[in-house]
Amino acid sequence: IADGGSGTGHKDNKTHQGREKADRATRDQVLDQRTEAIIDHMVRKELISELQGVISTGKEANVYAAPLYTYDDEAGTQTGTHYRAAKIYKTSILSFVDRERYITGEHRFRGGGHKGNNRKMVKKWAEKEFRNLQRLNRAGLACPYPIQLKANVLLMEFLGDNEGHAYPRLRDVELEGVDDADIAQQWRSLYIQLLGLVQRLYQVCRLVHADLSEYNILYHERVLYIIDVSQSVGHDHPQTFDFLRMDLHNVGAFFRRKGVDTLRDRTVFEFVTA
Ligand code: ADP
Ligand code: MN
Repeated sequence: IADGGSGTGHKDNKTHQGREKADRATRDQVLDQRTEAIIDHMVRKELISELQGVISTGKEANVYAAPLYTYDDEAGTQTGTHYRAAKIYKTSILSFVDRERYITGEHRFRGGGHKGNNRKMVKKWAEKEFRNLQRLNRAGLACPYPIQLKANVLLMEFLGDNEGHAYPRLRDVELEGVDDADIAQQWRSLYIQLLGLVQRLYQVCRLVHADLSEYNILYHERVLYIIDVSQSVGHDHPQTFDFLRMDLHNVGAFFRRKGVDTLRDRTVFEFVTA
Protein backbone atom coordinates (compact mmCIF):
# COMPACT_ATOMS: atom_id res chain seq x y z
CA ILE A 1 0.00 0.00 0.00
CA ALA A 2 3.01 2.28 0.25
CA ASP A 3 3.79 1.96 -3.43
CA GLY A 4 3.42 4.56 -6.12
CA GLY A 5 3.33 7.66 -3.94
CA SER A 6 5.76 9.73 -5.93
CA GLY A 7 4.39 8.74 -9.28
CA THR A 8 7.95 9.01 -10.54
CA GLY A 9 9.38 5.66 -9.68
CA HIS A 10 11.97 6.86 -7.13
CA LYS A 11 12.48 4.38 -4.40
CA ASP A 12 14.81 5.82 -1.84
CA ASN A 13 15.52 4.35 1.57
CA LYS A 14 12.93 6.38 3.32
CA THR A 15 10.24 5.09 1.03
CA HIS A 16 11.37 1.52 1.50
CA GLN A 17 11.32 1.88 5.25
CA GLY A 18 7.94 3.48 5.02
CA ARG A 19 6.72 0.65 2.90
CA GLU A 20 7.77 -1.95 5.42
CA LYS A 21 6.04 0.01 8.13
CA ALA A 22 2.90 0.28 6.08
CA ASP A 23 2.92 -3.42 5.30
CA ARG A 24 3.30 -4.13 8.97
CA ALA A 25 0.44 -1.77 9.75
CA THR A 26 -1.71 -3.64 7.27
CA ARG A 27 -0.84 -7.02 8.70
CA ASP A 28 -1.28 -5.98 12.31
CA GLN A 29 -4.51 -4.12 11.90
CA VAL A 30 -5.90 -6.44 9.26
CA LEU A 31 -7.31 -3.86 6.92
CA ASP A 32 -9.87 -5.64 4.82
CA GLN A 33 -9.41 -5.81 1.06
CA ARG A 34 -11.84 -3.05 0.23
CA THR A 35 -10.18 -0.71 2.70
CA GLU A 36 -6.79 -1.54 1.21
CA ALA A 37 -8.14 -0.78 -2.25
CA ILE A 38 -9.31 2.65 -1.03
CA ILE A 39 -5.90 3.39 0.45
CA ASP A 40 -4.29 2.27 -2.81
CA HIS A 41 -6.50 4.64 -4.71
CA MET A 42 -5.59 7.55 -2.43
CA VAL A 43 -1.93 6.73 -3.01
CA ARG A 44 -2.40 6.69 -6.79
CA LYS A 45 -4.21 10.03 -6.59
CA GLU A 46 -1.22 11.33 -4.61
CA LEU A 47 -3.37 12.38 -1.68
CA ILE A 48 -1.02 10.36 0.52
CA SER A 49 2.14 8.37 -0.17
CA GLU A 50 1.49 5.61 2.31
CA LEU A 51 -0.08 4.70 5.61
CA GLN A 52 2.52 5.01 8.32
CA GLY A 53 2.38 4.14 11.99
CA VAL A 54 -0.90 3.90 13.78
CA ILE A 55 -1.57 6.92 16.04
CA SER A 56 -4.52 5.42 17.81
CA THR A 57 -6.39 2.15 17.90
CA GLY A 58 -9.93 2.63 19.09
CA LYS A 59 -12.98 0.48 19.44
CA GLU A 60 -14.56 1.86 16.30
CA ALA A 61 -11.68 3.29 14.33
CA ASN A 62 -7.93 3.44 13.95
CA VAL A 63 -6.11 6.65 13.12
CA TYR A 64 -2.90 6.56 11.05
CA ALA A 65 -0.32 9.15 10.17
CA ALA A 66 -0.33 9.29 6.39
CA PRO A 67 2.62 11.15 4.88
CA LEU A 68 2.67 12.65 1.43
CA TYR A 69 6.24 12.87 0.12
CA THR A 70 7.21 15.54 -2.34
CA TYR A 71 9.97 14.96 -4.86
CA ASP A 72 12.28 16.97 -7.01
CA ASP A 73 11.90 15.06 -10.26
CA GLU A 74 14.97 16.65 -11.87
CA ALA A 75 17.29 15.81 -9.02
CA GLY A 76 15.49 12.58 -8.20
CA THR A 77 15.39 13.40 -4.50
CA GLN A 78 12.75 13.66 -1.87
CA THR A 79 12.22 17.29 -0.90
CA GLY A 80 9.72 17.09 1.90
CA THR A 81 6.99 15.33 3.80
CA HIS A 82 3.53 16.60 4.49
CA TYR A 83 1.49 14.62 6.98
CA ARG A 84 -2.18 13.85 6.85
CA ALA A 85 -4.34 11.77 9.15
CA ALA A 86 -6.38 8.79 7.98
CA LYS A 87 -9.19 7.68 10.23
CA ILE A 88 -10.25 4.20 9.23
CA TYR A 89 -13.52 3.01 10.67
CA LYS A 90 -13.60 -0.65 11.48
CA THR A 91 -16.09 -2.61 9.47
CA SER A 92 -16.30 -5.52 11.88
CA ILE A 93 -17.36 -4.04 15.19
CA LEU A 94 -20.07 -4.95 17.61
CA SER A 95 -20.80 -1.50 18.99
CA PHE A 96 -23.41 -0.50 16.44
CA VAL A 97 -26.25 -0.90 18.85
CA ASP A 98 -24.67 1.74 21.04
CA ARG A 99 -24.25 4.14 18.17
CA GLU A 100 -27.77 3.69 16.89
CA ARG A 101 -29.19 5.98 19.52
CA TYR A 102 -27.25 8.94 18.19
CA ILE A 103 -28.72 8.53 14.74
CA THR A 104 -32.31 8.08 15.84
CA GLY A 105 -34.29 11.22 15.37
CA GLU A 106 -31.82 13.00 13.16
CA HIS A 107 -33.31 14.20 9.87
CA ARG A 108 -30.05 13.99 8.04
CA PHE A 109 -29.81 10.27 8.54
CA ARG A 110 -33.38 9.21 8.93
CA GLY A 111 -34.74 6.21 7.16
CA GLY A 112 -31.38 4.76 6.30
CA GLY A 113 -32.49 1.27 7.16
CA HIS A 114 -28.91 0.13 7.67
CA LYS A 115 -29.48 -2.18 10.55
CA GLY A 116 -27.72 -5.44 10.00
CA ASN A 117 -25.40 -4.03 7.37
CA ASN A 118 -22.16 -3.10 9.07
CA ARG A 119 -20.38 -1.74 6.06
CA LYS A 120 -23.19 0.65 5.23
CA MET A 121 -23.52 1.65 8.87
CA VAL A 122 -19.83 2.41 9.16
CA LYS A 123 -19.99 4.40 5.95
CA LYS A 124 -22.75 6.50 7.50
CA TRP A 125 -20.62 7.23 10.54
CA ALA A 126 -17.64 8.24 8.49
CA GLU A 127 -19.89 10.43 6.36
CA LYS A 128 -21.34 12.02 9.47
CA GLU A 129 -17.91 12.84 10.82
CA PHE A 130 -16.82 14.24 7.46
CA ARG A 131 -19.85 16.50 7.19
CA ASN A 132 -19.60 17.63 10.79
CA LEU A 133 -15.94 18.52 10.26
CA GLN A 134 -16.99 20.57 7.24
CA ARG A 135 -19.51 22.42 9.37
CA LEU A 136 -16.93 23.14 12.05
CA ASN A 137 -14.48 24.38 9.46
CA ARG A 138 -17.03 26.65 7.85
CA ALA A 139 -17.66 28.18 11.27
CA GLY A 140 -13.93 28.76 11.72
CA LEU A 141 -13.58 26.41 14.66
CA ALA A 142 -10.17 24.84 15.29
CA CYS A 143 -10.43 21.24 14.09
CA PRO A 144 -8.92 19.03 11.38
CA TYR A 145 -9.78 20.09 7.84
CA PRO A 146 -11.56 17.19 6.10
CA ILE A 147 -9.78 16.28 2.85
CA GLN A 148 -11.50 13.24 1.45
CA LEU A 149 -13.98 10.57 2.35
CA LYS A 150 -14.29 7.20 0.70
CA ALA A 151 -16.49 4.60 2.37
CA ASN A 152 -14.93 3.93 5.80
CA VAL A 153 -11.77 5.98 5.20
CA LEU A 154 -11.67 9.63 6.22
CA LEU A 155 -8.62 11.60 5.20
CA MET A 156 -8.10 14.83 7.09
CA GLU A 157 -5.58 17.45 8.06
CA PHE A 158 -2.95 16.12 10.45
CA LEU A 159 -2.83 17.98 13.75
CA GLY A 160 0.78 17.53 14.70
CA ASP A 161 4.36 18.32 13.83
CA ASN A 162 6.29 17.71 10.59
CA GLU A 163 7.67 14.44 11.90
CA GLY A 164 4.30 12.77 12.23
CA HIS A 165 3.83 13.27 15.97
CA ALA A 166 0.24 14.21 16.76
CA TYR A 167 -0.50 17.09 19.12
CA PRO A 168 -1.28 15.82 22.63
CA ARG A 169 -4.79 15.25 23.84
CA LEU A 170 -5.85 17.78 26.46
CA ARG A 171 -5.78 14.85 28.88
CA ASP A 172 -1.99 14.54 28.45
CA VAL A 173 -1.04 18.21 28.43
CA GLU A 174 1.38 19.55 30.99
CA LEU A 175 1.38 23.30 30.82
CA GLU A 176 4.57 25.20 31.45
CA GLY A 177 4.70 28.59 33.07
CA VAL A 178 6.82 30.91 35.15
CA ASP A 179 5.05 29.87 38.36
CA ASP A 180 1.97 28.02 39.65
CA ALA A 181 -0.21 31.11 39.38
CA ASP A 182 0.76 31.47 35.74
CA ILE A 183 -0.12 27.84 35.04
CA ALA A 184 -3.43 28.17 36.90
CA GLN A 185 -4.24 31.22 34.80
CA GLN A 186 -3.46 29.31 31.61
CA TRP A 187 -5.81 26.48 32.62
CA ARG A 188 -8.47 29.04 33.35
CA SER A 189 -8.13 30.68 29.98
CA LEU A 190 -8.27 27.25 28.26
CA TYR A 191 -11.51 26.63 30.12
CA ILE A 192 -12.93 29.90 28.83
CA GLN A 193 -11.66 29.10 25.34
CA LEU A 194 -13.44 25.75 25.43
CA LEU A 195 -16.73 27.25 26.58
CA GLY A 196 -16.49 29.63 23.64
CA LEU A 197 -15.91 26.67 21.32
CA VAL A 198 -18.90 24.76 22.67
CA GLN A 199 -21.04 27.86 22.30
CA ARG A 200 -20.00 28.38 18.67
CA LEU A 201 -20.45 24.69 17.99
CA TYR A 202 -23.98 25.01 19.33
CA GLN A 203 -24.97 28.37 17.91
CA VAL A 204 -23.11 28.57 14.61
CA CYS A 205 -22.75 24.91 13.62
CA ARG A 206 -25.98 23.99 15.39
CA LEU A 207 -24.29 20.89 16.77
CA VAL A 208 -23.65 19.28 20.12
CA HIS A 209 -20.45 17.25 20.22
CA ALA A 210 -21.96 14.44 22.32
CA ASP A 211 -18.63 12.86 23.26
CA LEU A 212 -16.75 15.90 24.48
CA SER A 213 -13.99 15.31 26.99
CA GLU A 214 -10.26 15.84 27.48
CA TYR A 215 -9.77 12.83 25.18
CA ASN A 216 -11.38 14.43 22.16
CA ILE A 217 -9.62 17.76 22.33
CA LEU A 218 -6.07 18.26 21.08
CA TYR A 219 -3.83 21.06 22.30
CA HIS A 220 -1.07 23.01 20.65
CA GLU A 221 0.36 26.41 21.53
CA ARG A 222 -2.60 27.58 23.59
CA VAL A 223 -5.13 26.50 20.98
CA LEU A 224 -7.73 23.77 21.56
CA TYR A 225 -8.77 21.61 18.60
CA ILE A 226 -12.03 19.68 18.56
CA ILE A 227 -11.85 16.17 17.11
CA ASP A 228 -13.98 13.02 16.89
CA VAL A 229 -17.31 14.46 15.79
CA SER A 230 -18.85 11.35 14.21
CA GLN A 231 -21.49 11.12 16.93
CA SER A 232 -22.24 14.84 17.13
CA VAL A 233 -25.92 15.64 16.84
CA GLY A 234 -27.96 18.48 15.42
CA HIS A 235 -30.60 20.50 17.24
CA ASP A 236 -33.29 18.25 15.82
CA HIS A 237 -32.12 15.28 17.86
CA PRO A 238 -34.47 14.57 20.79
CA GLN A 239 -31.57 14.21 23.23
CA THR A 240 -29.59 17.29 22.21
CA PHE A 241 -29.86 18.90 25.64
CA ASP A 242 -28.95 15.68 27.46
CA PHE A 243 -25.81 15.32 25.37
CA LEU A 244 -24.95 18.98 25.88
CA ARG A 245 -25.32 18.69 29.64
CA MET A 246 -23.15 15.60 29.62
CA ASP A 247 -20.47 17.34 27.52
CA LEU A 248 -20.44 20.36 29.82
CA HIS A 249 -20.33 18.13 32.85
CA ASN A 250 -17.25 16.25 31.55
CA VAL A 251 -15.47 19.43 30.62
CA GLY A 252 -16.26 21.07 33.95
CA ALA A 253 -15.03 18.06 35.92
CA PHE A 254 -11.76 18.00 33.99
CA PHE A 255 -11.00 21.67 34.52
CA ARG A 256 -11.97 21.46 38.20
CA ARG A 257 -9.35 18.74 38.59
CA LYS A 258 -6.90 21.23 37.09
CA GLY A 259 -7.79 23.67 39.83
CA VAL A 260 -10.04 25.94 37.79
CA ASP A 261 -12.87 27.62 39.67
CA THR A 262 -15.47 26.51 37.14
CA LEU A 263 -18.86 28.11 36.59
CA ARG A 264 -22.07 26.43 37.72
CA ASP A 265 -23.53 23.89 35.27
CA ARG A 266 -26.65 25.93 34.84
CA THR A 267 -24.75 29.13 34.11
CA VAL A 268 -22.64 27.38 31.48
CA PHE A 269 -25.66 25.75 29.89
CA GLU A 270 -27.37 29.11 29.60
CA PHE A 271 -24.23 30.71 28.19
CA VAL A 272 -23.99 28.05 25.48
CA THR A 273 -27.65 28.02 24.50
CA ALA A 274 -28.55 31.68 25.04
P1 ADP B 1 -11.81 7.43 18.33
O1 ADP B 1 -13.20 7.27 17.80
O2 ADP B 1 -11.01 6.19 18.25
O3 ADP B 1 -11.80 8.04 19.71
P2 ADP B 1 -10.61 9.95 17.45
O4 ADP B 1 -11.14 10.73 16.30
O5 ADP B 1 -10.85 10.50 18.81
O6 ADP B 1 -11.11 8.44 17.30
O7 ADP B 1 -9.05 9.77 17.24
C1 ADP B 1 -8.28 8.98 18.11
C2 ADP B 1 -6.95 9.64 18.37
O8 ADP B 1 -6.24 9.82 17.15
C3 ADP B 1 -7.04 11.03 18.97
O9 ADP B 1 -7.10 11.01 20.38
C4 ADP B 1 -5.79 11.70 18.49
O10 ADP B 1 -4.72 11.38 19.34
C5 ADP B 1 -5.56 11.05 17.14
N1 ADP B 1 -6.09 11.88 16.04
C6 ADP B 1 -7.35 11.88 15.56
N2 ADP B 1 -7.49 12.76 14.55
C7 ADP B 1 -6.28 13.33 14.39
C8 ADP B 1 -5.76 14.33 13.49
N3 ADP B 1 -6.52 14.91 12.56
N4 ADP B 1 -4.46 14.68 13.61
C9 ADP B 1 -3.69 14.09 14.55
N5 ADP B 1 -4.11 13.16 15.42
C10 ADP B 1 -5.39 12.77 15.34
MN1 MN C 1 -11.96 9.91 20.48
